[in-house]
Amino acid sequence: MSVIRPDTAGLAVEEVLAALHALRAADLPTHGGRTLAYVYDSGLADADELGREAVAMFAGSNGLDPTAFPSLLRMENDLVATAAALLDGPEGAVGVATSGGTESILLAVLATRTAGAEAGVTAPSMVLPATAHAAFLKAAHLLGVRPVVVDVDPDTLRADPAATEAAVDDTTVLVVASAPSYAHGVIDPVGEIAAVAAARGVRCHVDACIGGWVLPFLDGAASDTGTDRGATDAPGPWTFAVPGVTSISVDLHKYAYTPKGVSLLLHRDADLRRGHLFASAAWPGYTMLNSTVQSTKSGGPLAAAWAVTRRIGVDGYRDLARTARSATLEVAAAVEGIDGLNVLVPPDSTLLALVSDGSCDVHTVADEMLAQGWFTQPQMAFGDVPATLHLTLSAATAPSVPDLLVALREAVAAARAAGPVVADPTLVGMLAALDPSTLDADAFDGLLAAAGLAGGDGGIALPERMAPVNALLDAAPPAVREALLVGVLDRLARPTTA
Ligand SMILES: *Cc1c(COP(=O)(O)O)cnc(C)c1O
Repeated sequence: MSVIRPDTAGLAVEEVLAALHALRAADLPTHGGRTLAYVYDSGLADADELGREAVAMFAGSNGLDPTAFPSLLRMENDLVATAAALLDGPEGAVGVATSGGTESILLAVLATRTAGAEAGVTAPSMVLPATAHAAFLKAAHLLGVRPVVVDVDPDTLRADPAATEAAVDDTTVLVVASAPSYAHGVIDPVGEIAAVAAARGVRCHVDACIGGWVLPFLDGAASDTGTDRGATDAPGPWTFAVPGVTSISVDLHKYAYTPKGVSLLLHRDADLRRGHLFASAAWPGYTMLNSTVQSTKSGGPLAAAWAVTRRIGVDGYRDLARTARSATLEVAAAVEGIDGLNVLVPPDSTLLALVSDGSCDVHTVADEMLAQGWFTQPQMAFGDVPATLHLTLSAATAPSVPDLLVALREAVAAARAAGPVVADPTLVGMLAALDPSTLDADAFDGLLAAAGLAGGDGGIALPERMAPVNALLDAAPPAVREALLVGVLDRLARPTTA
């Protein structure tokens, strides 16, 4: 495709649209239920169409100033009210619409950091289960809050309340739990974790970014694991019904099936929110007044979320949640019958982590699945948990579960025939010896060349099959993997050349 240069004349509308369609051809499909991470598909064509129309209608409006665009404030307050009702918010609960789960989490951490600073905590920390979403580590990094990471129960992969309690100290400003965790799909014992926090006068955030618009619709069915792999205790309540839970994040652009760009952060009361509201009169322009990280922000995603949630309604979401949940249980049960593959831990919601028995490599299974048109997400080994394959099940996947299982059986059979990927020991040795702080451009070029991934012009040539690369990354120490991937991103994000 030709590069559109600023010095050329404008193109015809049809030409630009054709170029956009051509660009999209290489993307993962957002609809059809075969992309089992990143995207969420209700399968409801009219709700999708409505969402797109609402994005277009409000694309140019600006959430910067709630008095200039009262429609946006109204829709935000409506969405917060809907979510508060769903999550047992008490009288007085408040919230804010953000651009995504990461921003909701950032603001939850900011609010409590601010309150901590006001109470004299100068070097704040937060206690996280090791399974908490990396967005908390990003918040810690950006906001200067020290993360205190606590091991989870090795059998259930749920947060460990006793270990959490032991980790809380005078610097703790926040304790975190997930409902459920992204990587393993299990709900932490929020009742016990929140009690630990409350006893120390510390806030407790429940990250329900991915479960918050599913679990409330399942009416306790979440404890029905559908597998016989050692029944775990039913996960307890995790909403504001639990005393001590001070804030909850829930993404609308996940299981509310709304277009990307909206999440909600709810607080038990308005005082808890105060610390992430920001005003500045210390410049000559308009007095800045923000509840979120963004200032100028499109009203499009918010309006779409408002429209789609109103279209689908509680009954619609109950159907969608049950559909996605039973698809998850069906896949989990069938996996038990596939030689070489297991469910890591019984799923509490609509996420699965699949693990190999050693006879094959999940990275190869992912490649084989992709070759058959199914995207599954590899997750690297972490602590004592081996590499897994992550599956996020949407309602739209449900009708294709039989196809999914055929593909999975074939993929695992092929991966077993190929055997586990053996990462090149020389390269593994190089990576193990690497000091990530010294990985400059030249060293990175050398590694790319050694791994056979050097493209032209200092770029990267990713192979069709990722298993060998993933196996290598999996074998690298985490800090080295981080440095390598930052190097990859740096090389990918370069201005287009002719
Ligand atoms: C998706 C997710 C996040 C981060 O949300 P983004 O919208 O990707 O920023 C945080 N926590 C959990 C549990 C998630 O699933």
